[in-house]
Amino acid sequence: MTASAPSHGHGRPCLITRRARFSASHRYWLPELSADDNRARFGPCSLAPGHGHNYELIVAMAGPLDANGMVLNLSEVKHAIKAQVTAQLDFRCLNEAWPEFDLGRPEGCLPTTEALARVIWARLAPHLPLAGIRLFESESLWADVLGDTMEAFVSIRTHFAAAHRLAREELSQAENEAIYGKCARPHGHGHNYLLDVTVRGRIDPRTGMVCDLAALQQLVDDMVVEPFDHTFLNKDVVHFASCVPTAENIALHIADILSAPIAATGAQLHKVRLQESPNNAAEVFAEVPRLGATPELLEAALVS
Ligand SMILES: [Zn+2]
Ligand SMILES: [Zn+2]
Repeated sequence: MTASAPSHGHGRPCLITRRARFSASHRYWLPELSADDNRARFGPCSLAPGHGHNYELIVAMAGPLDANGMVLNLSEVKHAIKAQVTAQLDFRCLNEAWPEFDLGRPEGCLPTTEALARVIWARLAPHLPLAGIRLFESESLWADVLGDTMEAFVSIRTHFAAAHRLAREELSQAENEAIYGKCARPHGHGHNYLLDVTVRGRIDPRTGMVCDLAALQQLVDDMVVEPFDHTFLNKDVVHFASCVPTAENIALHIADILSAPIAATGAQLHKVRLQESPNNAAEVFAEVPRLGATPELLEAALVS
């Protein structure tokens, strides 16, 4: 490149992310419900005066590079996120910090992870060229919002431990070892599996929920974690008597098990991600791939 050449990325599109953290409290309590109904629907989240989380916010932004080789000046991004979000929410009670969560108003909504992600999108959109908002309430619960809509993706993480052996019945031990290597050894081996289940749905304008989170967690526990945990998958889970339990096949089977029951909760199973070890994971998409932005687009851009 000659000294007079322009910055070579000028005009080319790029996705950037910025992380920010804040701590805030909230309480799930709808004034139109009785105390018993609030407790039944929201469990310990209904307890007074509330409880808190250390939230982690990832803001994804897209645009062409400027002459300085940047999509945006990061100090301006940092300032916008602080002014519009974290300075207003940090060490506050969400139910009181923003009128969107004032349940005394008919349009007020419970400050769930997905509702908070949606409101953060709405508040940041006038200031930044947003591509996605990901908000972690904890390591095991996060929400993605990818536009100015009521649609959101909610992900939960859980784990189970299980043993397996990778081998096809009709092949010899030598043939199986040629395909599956050490994973074909006759007595099996085990993993601590990390399981992420992502659902997609419309945020209810009052409860702020895509679906009943406790019911979703219970479904995953009852239909996957409990029957799979501390088993030898090939012998203890009927499906794997005739299907080699690779991470891919386990993820597919989990998606098949969960699709219909999750649909009955009002949300759609979007993705199952099964991490077998720090080095390998399998992802299965339960929906026909949709055009445009997806949580995967965010995933790819995330600093982990
Ligand atoms: Zn909470
Ligand atoms: Zn294995």
